[in-house]
Amino acid sequence: MEKEIDIKGARVHNLKNLSVKIPHNQFVVITGLSGSGKSSLAFDTIFAEGQRRYVESLSSYARQFLGRFDKPDVDYIKGIAPAVAIEQKVITSNPRSTVGTVTEIYDYLKVLFARIGITYSPISGEVVKKHTVSDVIDFIKSFGEGDKYMILAPWVVPEDRTIEKTVEILIGQGYTKVKVGEESFDIQDFDTKKYRSGESFIIVDRLSHKKKDEDYYSRLGDSVQTAFYEGFGEAMVETMSDAKLTSFNNRFELDGMTFEEPNLNFFSFNNPFGACKTCEGYGSIIGIDPNLVIPNTELSIYEDAIAPWKGEKMQEWKEQFIYGAQDFPIHRPIEELTEKEYEMLWDGTGDARGLHDFFAYLQSKAYKIQYRIMLSRYRGKTLCPDCKGTRLRKETTYVKIDGHTLQDFLLMPIDELKEVFANLSLTENQVEVSKRLLLEINSRLMYLNEVGLGYLTLNRRSSTLSGGESQRINLATSLGSSLVGSMYILDEPSIGLHPKDTERLVGVLNKLKEIGNTVIVVEHEEDVMKAADQIIDIGPKAGLYGGEIVFQGGHKDLLKAKDSLTAQYLTNQIEIPTPEKRRKLNQKIRLNGLTENNLKNIDLSIPLNGLVAISGVSGSGKSTIVKKILYPALMKKLGKSSPEQGKYKSIEGDYDRISEVEMVDQNPIGRSSRSNPATYVKAFDIIRDLFANQHLAKVRGYKAGHFSYNVPGGRCETCKGEGEITISMQFMADVKLKCEECNGKRYGVEALEVEYKGKNINDVLEMSIEEALEFFSEENNLNKKIRERIQPLADLGLGYLKMGQSSSTLSGGEAQRVKLASFLAIGNQTTRSKTKSVDPTLFIFDEPTTGLHFHDIAKLIIAFNALIKLGHSIVVIEHNMDVIKNADWIIDLGPEGGKKGGEVIFEGTPEDLIKSKSSFTGKFLKEKLG
Ligand code: ADP
Ligand code: ADP
Ligand code: ZN
Ligand code: ZN
Repeated sequence: MEKEIDIKGARVHNLKNLSVKIPHNQFVVITGLSGSGKSSLAFDTIFAEGQRRYVESLSSYARQFLGRFDKPDVDYIKGIAPAVAIEQKVITSNPRSTVGTVTEIYDYLKVLFARIGITYSPISGEVVKKHTVSDVIDFIKSFGEGDKYMILAPWVVPEDRTIEKTVEILIGQGYTKVKVGEESFDIQDFDTKKYRSGESFIIVDRLSHKKKDEDYYSRLGDSVQTAFYEGFGEAMVETMSDAKLTSFNNRFELDGMTFEEPNLNFFSFNNPFGACKTCEGYGSIIGIDPNLVIPNTELSIYEDAIAPWKGEKMQEWKEQFIYGAQDFPIHRPIEELTEKEYEMLWDGTGDARGLHDFFAYLQSKAYKIQYRIMLSRYRGKTLCPDCKGTRLRKETTYVKIDGHTLQDFLLMPIDELKEVFANLSLTENQVEVSKRLLLEINSRLMYLNEVGLGYLTLNRRSSTLSGGESQRINLATSLGSSLVGSMYILDEPSIGLHPKDTERLVGVLNKLKEIGNTVIVVEHEEDVMKAADQIIDIGPKAGLYGGEIVFQGGHKDLLKAKDSLTAQYLTNQIEIPTPEKRRKLNQKIRLNGLTENNLKNIDLSIPLNGLVAISGVSGSGKSTIVKKILYPALMKKLGKSSPEQGKYKSIEGDYDRISEVEMVDQNPIGRSSRSNPATYVKAFDIIRDLFANQHLAKVRGYKAGHFSYNVPGGRCETCKGEGEITISMQFMADVKLKCEECNGKRYGVEALEVEYKGKNINDVLEMSIEEALEFFSEENNLNKKIRERIQPLADLGLGYLKMGQSSSTLSGGEAQRVKLASFLAIGNQTTRSKTKSVDPTLFIFDEPTTGLHFHDIAKLIIAFNALIKLGHSIVVIEHNMDVIKNADWIIDLGPEGGKKGGEVIFEGTPEDLIKSKSSFTGKFLKEKLG
């Protein structure tokens, strides 16, 4: 492999003939303003070329299209290694995929259980074993020389045969004797009336033991084999001297149960054979929902915790439980019961009948309407009781490794699982056959833990993970698979991660380098820059004003770099200001009794009319509060269709002071290539009016609709106004090609003949926002409206975007800011009546600093303040200290992630948070507030 990636004359997107050499086997950070060209270099040039070469080397099918694939626009590029991009996309749309499957740990666990899992009978707890011919011979080897014995097989008469027929067949096969009870008979003249099922045997062979006779052993082997065959898997040895009968079984049976022999399909929830029979592999069933049965877990049984055990008639159930359950604490709140006591409540104990019995009773009376109604009130989608959501059939729990089932492993948080695996006690034999597997499992568990995901379980569905969590899972998986000699390209791996965990992330990135890879990371976090071997700063600004290398070198030299905005922020020459004083927020929404996911029955207040930050380590419960409770609860209060609500008791306070709630997340703002920044902020409507107002348009009778590319009229009909044609390719992502009819201009020739100030409508779509602001600067009514709508985009640092840039090419962070701009644009409109104030809206943001450089964050905060000034309220989930220090109120969650989180560590102002001893966030904020 060459020593470096050598790029000359890159012109992808805004890159200005950029040339750069990036050393291999190093950890390189690319930084710069949002829109400066970082992704254009890292993903659209380096990664794209890596991919292109990879595909070229692979498939002839793909190659026939390659001529039409755009090569990255670059003069020369050398030293490209196989490229792996680790992006923030949620890994897969496959609803069956879980953390276990994407990290491949589940696949290794399956093999591990199939190889070394031991099956135990649930009845006796004994190990289930299957006997082989050698087990029988080993047993006989303990006999003395010359000892006489018989090999017997149970005499089974199959259902479709008569006993006479069976006798006939046995004679045909050459058997001479049978045995019923203690008595032997010649088979020739056996009286079939004497046959007794279960006590009749075929005498397969009669032998005397000869320790050192090979012929004897080979005859013995054959006889045992035959006995297993005739006995449908069972065979016996009876010694002559004491008539002692010893049974062997080559079926996998014990205690009258037949077990499955562990194999891969048995442990695959994706396989019909392995899928849970109760829920058919869904993981949940429609059943009695405990949350509906016990809506308030602070109450005891005595205080009527059980909702259906109220009322005249049903009260009897409560009473019988109280009198019958001698060993049950009837005055203890449900939430304080031990697991065992909670089970008693459901299963019953002593004379007391439990909830399961109760619902079975209702079921038995379900022919009566009132019972049916009652039942339906407590039904809901609940975790499948048999597989506990793992989707594995119940029988898999009979198989254990060092006392743990596969289900246990799937449901345990990764940090605990890592410990369990580090301390597994296995036999030498087990270790021998599972060495490789254990190595793969252990290293993956370690890396998952290192990237701060120890709170996840392997059973967690991939589709429920955040982008940051997904990316870090991919990172850990890449390390686990130890692919070397590659270029790994990552997009802000610190997203979603508390500053406290950044150090461990850096350790993992370094590890990826140490095993022999080149690591290229687009990042804005200073701690990541500090750890890098070199930093490439792209700028000086964004879009047209970016695309150049401002600096390349180590962190120390970066601090001395001139003209680098990054350096100026890092050295505090420019600072994101801290507000002089905090807003006093009097109105608030109160949320009580939050218990969804890991939340520990907490209460909290969200003040209105200010900037509220929710902080805490990854997995502490921030998204759960905001996305599963606050947002749906408010939507419901506002009478709108609300997504499924997480568990909480009540919402109180001043929620009626807001009339809208907007979740401004990082989801794309439109999948189609028809949506773009100009349409999103509704500027394009006015631009169309403007073109319809031009002389030529009036002469030809073109209305505004003629300049829309969404309806027939002025648009190009070949591409239906898309400007490009999508070709779907088997096995690969679709390919988009420029429309040859309109040459990508979206419109027909006639529409393009209409010009305003020498530009046609397509020229306007091709302008950057900054250029458009300049172009529409003349004072007139339409121009003013256009400027009002696009100015917020520029204010948020998006001036570099093209007016017509398809929304699908925007990054998550850009999409979020375009959404934000559209709300600011509404606030700006002169058409709005001066007297009517805005609808007070609560805006919810999820890590709005994603993709943002310090300089962009400064602009974001200005935009937040503008929204608040308009009378709105803002809640942000954030790790960025510059945003947190600007908050009026902080809710800090923790102390850790998952089970060890879910508590409110602090509520208050930034000034008070830095005094908190228990908050990690407080510690980091202290450095900022000094
Ligand atoms: P960064 O990664 O630094 O935020 P990008 O490399 O994504 O910046 O963008 C650099 C410039 O290229 C911006 O002006 C952006 O709008 C433009 N750009 C990015 N992707 C595309 C695309 N698919 N088509 C056209 N322009 C693009
Ligand atoms: P944060 O936003 O602070 O990173 P989350 O609210 O996403 O934390 O997660 C809090 C806890 O809830 C974690 O243990 C997480 O694994 C769990 N959790 C979050 N979403 C789900 C879900 N859809 N299914 C199961 N567990 C979840
Ligand atoms: Zn199930
Ligand atoms: Zn066209």
